[in-house]
Amino acid sequence: MLLEQVYRAGVVGCGGAGFPTHVKLDCKAEYMIINGAECEPLLNTDKYLMRHFAKEIVSAAELCGKQVGAAHIVIAIKDYYHAEREALLSAVQELGSRIQVFSLSNYYPAGDEQMIVYEVTGRVVPPGGIPIHVGAVVSNIATMLAVYEAAEDRPLTHKYLTIGGEVPEPMLLHVPVGTPLKACMEAAGLRAEFNRQYVIGGPMMGRYVSGEELGHEVVTKTTSGILVLPESAVFASPGLQQMINRARSVCIQCHYCTDLCPRHLLGHPLEPHKIMRKMATAGSGVDDDMLKDRDIQNAAICCECGVCERFACPMGLAPRSINAALKRKLAAAGIRYRSDGVSTEPLPFRNYRMIPAPSLTARVGLAEYMSAHPDKCLELNPPQVEILLKQHVGAPAQPLVQAGDRVSEGRLIAAPPEGALGAVIHSSVDGIVASVTKDRIVIDSEGGLL
Ligand code: SF4
Ligand code: SF4
Repeated sequence: MLLEQVYRAGVVGCGGAGFPTHVKLDCKAEYMIINGAECEPLLNTDKYLMRHFAKEIVSAAELCGKQVGAAHIVIAIKDYYHAEREALLSAVQELGSRIQVFSLSNYYPAGDEQMIVYEVTGRVVPPGGIPIHVGAVVSNIATMLAVYEAAEDRPLTHKYLTIGGEVPEPMLLHVPVGTPLKACMEAAGLRAEFNRQYVIGGPMMGRYVSGEELGHEVVTKTTSGILVLPESAVFASPGLQQMINRARSVCIQCHYCTDLCPRHLLGHPLEPHKIMRKMATAGSGVDDDMLKDRDIQNAAICCECGVCERFACPMGLAPRSINAALKRKLAAAGIRYRSDGVSTEPLPFRNYRMIPAPSLTARVGLAEYMSAHPDKCLELNPPQVEILLKQHVGAPAQPLVQAGDRVSEGRLIAAPPEGALGAVIHSSVDGIVASVTKDRIVIDSEGGLL
């Protein structure tokens, strides 16, 4: 029943790539873990949701735990999230729930799925594996709110977003899916400043875009925030060949990138310094022989947390960006990571090498923005939304409407091909379909304004 409701509501993982939630929950697991760490600096969306929708989140976590048959249902938050803990614990008490609120220490990246599984269960997900391989399912806070609404037969049509960084007033927005990001920034008071650097998501793992590029972006089911970054916090990643040239010139093989790599510290065989060494010999590019190298193939198990290039490397090199480029090349060559399914042991000194979050924010030039804990949330009702047909892992949805159709908020407007992995999509506003193209449905909203 829950799986069907979650599918019909179009729920996908709101904190990551958008894996369809009805598929993720279709399993049996010992642990149901709700990730409330929100470890990316400056993002405040999940914290806001925990303070204001604790009962809904706890109810949904109970439903999901029951669905997977979990013996343990855990909401994991950072140890200093005092107001959020209080809200969750009083919801747990009020609902007579068995959920445990678990404290994570304040390190980066505590919210990485494999870190959180280890902290809660003491089990290490095998390299190249996923949490269910050690009996856990992990979902995030915003997804729980969407599951709660799905259980009430309300589809996922709106998102809460953090607007933060160098803005007049950090805040939350509640917006229809498909809202142009430029409209979000204007609502937050940034009217004439589109010559800035933006990041969609968090500053460590989010997507950096220019003001011009921002003009083409819209809110999707996975958008959690938009940040404006000061010049000092912008990390410009050069092209692959330039990164290789730099590695050849200045990588001193100090090993720091490996020493501090969170996945390496979990015992995974990822050693970015070896990848950098091999890349330094790569001549004019990465050929097929290089892709057969086991150290190079280990780039596939990099979670792209950015610790190596934003914190560890004393030479300003970019192991994370190189790994990301290698992952694309490995995927294009059809080379999949060969996991032997064997769990590893964390390195004995792991606890001493985890990076305190305040040290990270200072290093990346964001410390002065960290004191903002916004609690103001504006509702936005834009005149037009552009709803993307691919906002999730799997096949793009296929339109079920055409230009000129009148739609109401919550109406089904696109669905994945029969039998394909994917998620259905609903109109996020009342209005008229203005156009349908191969990648989006544009709807003029009735009564929409900025
Ligand atoms: S930290 Fe930087 S310089 Fe040191 S081995 Fe890694 S990439 Fe090379
Ligand atoms: S981005 Fe760097 S530090 Fe993070 S997992 Fe990948 S190699 Fe390790």
